[in-house]
Amino acid sequence: MSEVIGRFRFMNEQRVNLDGFATPDANLGLIAFDSPHDPQPSLTLHNGVVIEMDGKTSDDFDTIDQFIALHGLDLAIAEEAMAIDSLRFARDLVDMNVSRASLVRLAAGMTPAKLAQVLSQLNAAELVIAMTKMRARSTPSNQAHVTNRSDDPLLLAADAATAAAFGFREIETTVPVLGDAPSNAVAVSIGAAVGSPGMLVQCSVEEATELALGMRGLVSYAETVSLYGTEQIFVDGDDTPWSKAFLTSAYASRGIKMRVTSGGGSEALMGGSEKCSMFYLEARCVSLARAMGAQGVQNGGIDAASVAGSVPGGVRSLMAENVMVMLRNLEACTGNDALMSESEVRRTSRTHPIFIAGSDFICSGFGSIQRYDNMFGPSNWNSEDIDDFLAMQRDWGVDAGLRTATERDVAALRRRATEAVTAVYSWLGLGDFSSEWAEQAIDAAGSKDVPDADLMLPLSASRTIVDTDVTMLDVIAALAENGFDIEAERCLDMLKARVQGDYLQTAAIFDESMNVLSLITDPNTYAGPGTGYRPSPERQEVIDTIRQQQSVSDIRAEQHSYATHNIVATGTAHISHDPRDVVIGVSPATGKDIWRTLSGLSVAEVLHEFMAGLEEEGCIGRIVRINDTVDLGMIGLTAARMSGSGISIGLQAKGTALIHRRDLAPLANLELYSVAPSLNRELYRQMGINAGRHAKGATPEPMRNPYSDEAIEARYHTKVVGLVAIERDCSSDTAPETMEVR
Ligand code: CA
Repeated sequence: MSEVIGRFRFMNEQRVNLDGFATPDANLGLIAFDSPHDPQPSLTLHNGVVIEMDGKTSDDFDTIDQFIALHGLDLAIAEEAMAIDSLRFARDLVDMNVSRASLVRLAAGMTPAKLAQVLSQLNAAELVIAMTKMRARSTPSNQAHVTNRSDDPLLLAADAATAAAFGFREIETTVPVLGDAPSNAVAVSIGAAVGSPGMLVQCSVEEATELALGMRGLVSYAETVSLYGTEQIFVDGDDTPWSKAFLTSAYASRGIKMRVTSGGGSEALMGGSEKCSMFYLEARCVSLARAMGAQGVQNGGIDAASVAGSVPGGVRSLMAENVMVMLRNLEACTGNDALMSESEVRRTSRTHPIFIAGSDFICSGFGSIQRYDNMFGPSNWNSEDIDDFLAMQRDWGVDAGLRTATERDVAALRRRATEAVTAVYSWLGLGDFSSEWAEQAIDAAGSKDVPDADLMLPLSASRTIVDTDVTMLDVIAALAENGFDIEAERCLDMLKARVQGDYLQTAAIFDESMNVLSLITDPNTYAGPGTGYRPSPERQEVIDTIRQQQSVSDIRAEQHSYATHNIVATGTAHISHDPRDVVIGVSPATGKDIWRTLSGLSVAEVLHEFMAGLEEEGCIGRIVRINDTVDLGMIGLTAARMSGSGISIGLQAKGTALIHRRDLAPLANLELYSVAPSLNRELYRQMGINAGRHAKGATPEPMRNPYSDEAIEARYHTKVVGLVAIERDCSSDTAPETMEVR
């Protein structure tokens, strides 16, 4: 016998137990908030210079302290800000009467330890309110990963266009093979332009390559300049805050939208936490980001989200990191990137508060492609979750940046994207694609569906792009020369936008009319109910209208597609006195508007099984349509009163069935099949047999509804509402009619 009892053996098998959970240990940095080694907030100025900060005098500053002290604090308000009680400031964050602007002003004078102390006071619900109020841009948005294992340019372009169709406004690609990067950047940019104007595109690779791609105009934003909260980790990466600041400026100076990446748990993961809490170290990163002039931060765990998720309060600290970015008046690209749990419940729980609060980018990398094609590793949300995400938006009336796309539109976009890439690659001498390859890429759900992809083509295309100095202007010319005028125009508009530079403002995205939405042009003005971002009526309709929704007329049309017209009325039905007679009472829409039951069996098939079951018992079934009621109990009782045996079967055309007897009350039937979707031929046959046995005065073993642990009701309840409405439309005071199945 096992030593573990069954209840725990069963619990141990659940997917959440594949996750790692750590006992908190400040010495290893495995602590979300408030390590005993975190400093208390403090700041001393002398002659306008920081001489002491967070418990360290300037002599003891490391490079991070030094950079923050020099560039990361508004010294004009620092003394006022540091004197504010942290709990009071935390309360102001959720007070709708205190403006975002006043909080941002004061936060600019707060040290990392002060910000950590303030935000650690907010519980989960308060973080939702603070995020709603503090994010920079009013309109929420979302970012997609578009990658694949083969760096297939056709599939990348088709998937980029698809991501745009679903509403993503930023697309991030990367490579399994570094040499493929230029080809990926070109392919994704073309696909994005096919999908929508104003798509921002990133190719996340080694820093020099990425910057070169940006300078050639082949990408339009960057976000992978990584910051860390301890000096040692910077040094391990051959970097300092100054080198990162230089790189950040290099991007911005070329009109490339730029944000940095950090995230709690990364220092602990790399063994360099200096015994501090994840949240305090992240406060240092966010202060650095502000100090170096980046417009935004991608944080909230990112690569080390599972490390943060392994400790108590870790998931709350991930969200608090995002709010800290917002409080520093930066764009927040809020994690929900790396898959942080094997449990569907935990990964949903991790995102949901951010989803309802709204963020500049709900996900800093929604895997819009298959998990196996995600070259960043699987995301917390992936292509299999798109319908879930859209349903969640609809459930809560929330705009989380996505929208429903029709199969027809996506198919057309994928075709055009592959055609555009084929034309450009051929025109520029980058490579030629077979039509089989293109057809596979258009249809593919992922790269496994494209066996004809040539894995060498992206590499040779990339070499040619580098060797022949291909820039976005060459791509635009190739598009224009080959009839892709719209896409050429869209790519050119992105280059013009870089010269104008408006989209370098904090939290900038383009809408589909190339308007910049940013902290400047679309500021968040949330100040309580009825204020701030509310989807416009048009946008709300987009959110509410998912492709799966059905109206009564949709259900009616669906039923008519199954119509066989083989159940017909032959005249008025009469009362029988034959003791073998068992009436099968059917509902008003039978033979008129409802032809298929919820289990997928046709109504005629169900009637056939009843008749056959009765025949096995030596009874004679007689089908009678009861026209004046949609209530199954009344249908059954009316039928029983016409039946020679006094026994009837009642059937609603949707498949619900019962056995009734003429002396019973309407609701007091003998046997009932209430879960119509899980019934089958055998069960209906058995009901016919049992009805026959009742007719002969026997007491058969009652039928039971088949058990299912699926959400059967979720599947059919809405349809039932529609089917009952159709039944009601068909009901009349016409006398019961004899029916025949032909
Ligand atoms: Ca990202």
